[in-house]
Amino acid sequence: MTEPMFNRIALIGIGLIGSSISHAVRRAGLAGEIVGSARTPATVETALKLGLISKGYSSATEAVNGADLVVLCVPVGLCGPIAKEIRDHLAPGAILTDVGSVKGAIVRDVAPHVPAGVHFVAAHPIAGTEQSGPESGFAELFDGRWCILTPEETTDEAATRKLKAFWEALGSRVEIMSPEHHDLVLAITSHLPHLIAYNIVNTAAHLERVTDSEVIKFSAGGFRDFTRIAASDPTMWRDVFLNNREAVLEMLGRFSEDLTALQRAIRFGDGETLYKTFADARAVRRSIIQAGQDTAAPNFGRTPK
Ligand code: NAP
Repeated sequence: MTEPMFNRIALIGIGLIGSSISHAVRRAGLAGEIVGSARTPATVETALKLGLISKGYSSATEAVNGADLVVLCVPVGLCGPIAKEIRDHLAPGAILTDVGSVKGAIVRDVAPHVPAGVHFVAAHPIAGTEQSGPESGFAELFDGRWCILTPEETTDEAATRKLKAFWEALGSRVEIMSPEHHDLVLAITSHLPHLIAYNIVNTAAHLERVTDSEVIKFSAGGFRDFTRIAASDPTMWRDVFLNNREAVLEMLGRFSEDLTALQRAIRFGDGETLYKTFADARAVRRSIIQAGQDTAAPNFGRTPK
């Protein structure tokens, strides 16, 4: 039998991403054992019951003992404080990584706590659903999806190579970029769409002349798709906006300008502008499908009930 890539993987946080990593690690046989910790005993118990981890701990400091890979799978704002907590317990030579949706703030908050001889390589799998918790994970989550690594200039190259091989073995395609560039790209492709979804759902819910039940009863495809995105975990998304403030504000400024142009076109009956804007956007959808990042099936391939 060949040696697994890591002897002991410690998952700090076992929600959607932590549990999906466990499923995919076991599918590919990448670890001798997987252990983990969460905030609540209930999550640790569920993770043990589901076989996501073979040993569960109430604290991150205990979970990282002897691990050669430690993955922080907690909300972005907790990565710094947890790195501080575990620093003296990390095994020499271990790789420390994370899965947070923001990279600049995590590198800023975690890197100062990383002891000499431990290799920190920040990472973000661009894969997810609106579900959370240990029951929501599945092995295929990362298949064909991108995972972005944002190592620093001083990061050990062998550690970066090993983490790249790890994510590829989980099914991902890997790209390396700077944390700042990651945050700018994700601000427009992920963070702003979530902000818009949260906002439009609340705007509809607050309408006085349309009752809540009408919003739900007549929720056509467009609105329904926004409600799916807006069902994402509020703690996770609060932390994303608190930690990627500048890039999101920059993109929000551009978005508002473009929205104002559309508003103007509607006010002045400028069909040409509306048609061109919509046609340009439609072409982007085609490119996403051609790149294999979504399905062309109607209703995203969901089967009607
Ligand atoms: P999740 O399902 O809500 O799980 C979060 C986990 O963190 C839970 O197990 C929670 O424990 C644990 N946790 C919270 N505070 C903790 C603490 N102080 N110590 C140890 N564990 C703690 O969240 P998720 O969707 O997996 O997201 C985790 C990370 O992945 C976030 O940084 C997010 O930005 C990133 N990410 C998410 C997605 C997505 O679509 N969801 C995609 C890519 C990356 P309890 O269950 O006990 O509360």
